Amino acid sequence: MDYQFPKAKEPIPSAGKDDLIVVAGAGGFIAGNLVAYFKDKGFTRIRAVDKKPVGEWYRVTPGVENLCLDLTDESNCRRSVEGAFEVYNLAADMGGMGFIETHRVDCLRSVLINTHLVESASRAGVKRYFYSSSACAYNTELQKRPDVVALKESDAYPAMAERGYGWEKLVSEMFCQEYWAERGMATFIARFHNVYGPFGTWRGGREKAPAAIARKVIEAKAEKTGKIEIWGDGTQTRSFMYIDDCLEGIDRITHCDELVATPINLGSSELIAINKLVDIAESIGGVRLERSYDLGAPKGVAGRNSDNTFIKSVLGWEPSTSFRSGLERTYRWIETQYADRKAGRRTVD
Ligand code: NAD
Repeated sequence: MDYQFPKAKEPIPSAGKDDLIVVAGAGGFIAGNLVAYFKDKGFTRIRAVDKKPVGEWYRVTPGVENLCLDLTDESNCRRSVEGAFEVYNLAADMGGMGFIETHRVDCLRSVLINTHLVESASRAGVKRYFYSSSACAYNTELQKRPDVVALKESDAYPAMAERGYGWEKLVSEMFCQEYWAERGMATFIARFHNVYGPFGTWRGGREKAPAAIARKVIEAKAEKTGKIEIWGDGTQTRSFMYIDDCLEGIDRITHCDELVATPINLGSSELIAINKLVDIAESIGGVRLERSYDLGAPKGVAGRNSDNTFIKSVLGWEPSTSFRSGLERTYRWIETQYADRKAGRRTVD
């Protein structure tokens, strides 16, 4: 059972339009889009941080302070959060199943990022701190069947998280909770379930299933192979959240005082089997492909879905973009990326 942390006794201040917001991991998919989201909402002072050189960021938003700093280093964390009102930590060494099953050390070492960032934020007097956790923090024993029951927040304990990546998330969640309980900095924790959409990795080994399948369909069409290879037997199920829902969810969760120090699911509850994902991608691409199944490839747990009872009860909201419409937008974006790459132009990967 999760510990229950004390609720806020007074309203927690939120950043005004001219207060400094810091977004960590901003060279990547979700944080890069989050920077653009806050800019669009009218925030005038945004500091974006990533260890990648700015020229390699997936999305660069004009009018933002961009810093290239490795946040596993404590002094870089202190520099990053100087003067910050709110901090959003989305920096982590991560990727799809192909990455996290073979890079456990890299995943575990992300613990350094949150450890130093949460401490630096607390010292800097940050008012609200957001941490991006994952459905991989849940007990893997509950995820062995494709028709899995949806995971609810209390299913993280007793803990048997995904080795490496999942345990790092659980420990970092605990750091965030204790910084509230013992140090009084308000922290907010979302457990994301697979996020997809434009400006995400779509090739190279770190991409997740929706982008990987969309790319494979686009490639099969362009190269006229008529074939597609699928990891696993295609029956494994997941829920996929469109990026716009993820951004709105982060904002809502971070600004809900009732959710202080309380991990909450942020995911779609529409369960999709990988075979179904391929059907949808094929129909968007207007092709039918011959399928082969690589049973030796990394495929993760058999089934996983997000139980949204808690988020609906607290926020009266849940991610609602249908998978079909989100994948359509993502597919079209990857098509453009594919063409750009063929033409020798710079792409996200
Ligand atoms: P991403 O890989 O696109 O972005 C992460 C960014 O963090 C990268 O740009 C990377 O360079 C940066 N980073 C890594 N180490 C760093 C360091 N030492 N210092 C500074 N920056 C560093 O990943 P994403 O999909 O945008 O995920 C963002 C967060 O959400 C991560 O914490 C991830 O674990 C979590 N999450 C994502 C998903 C998903 O489906 N995308 C699902 C669950 C949880």
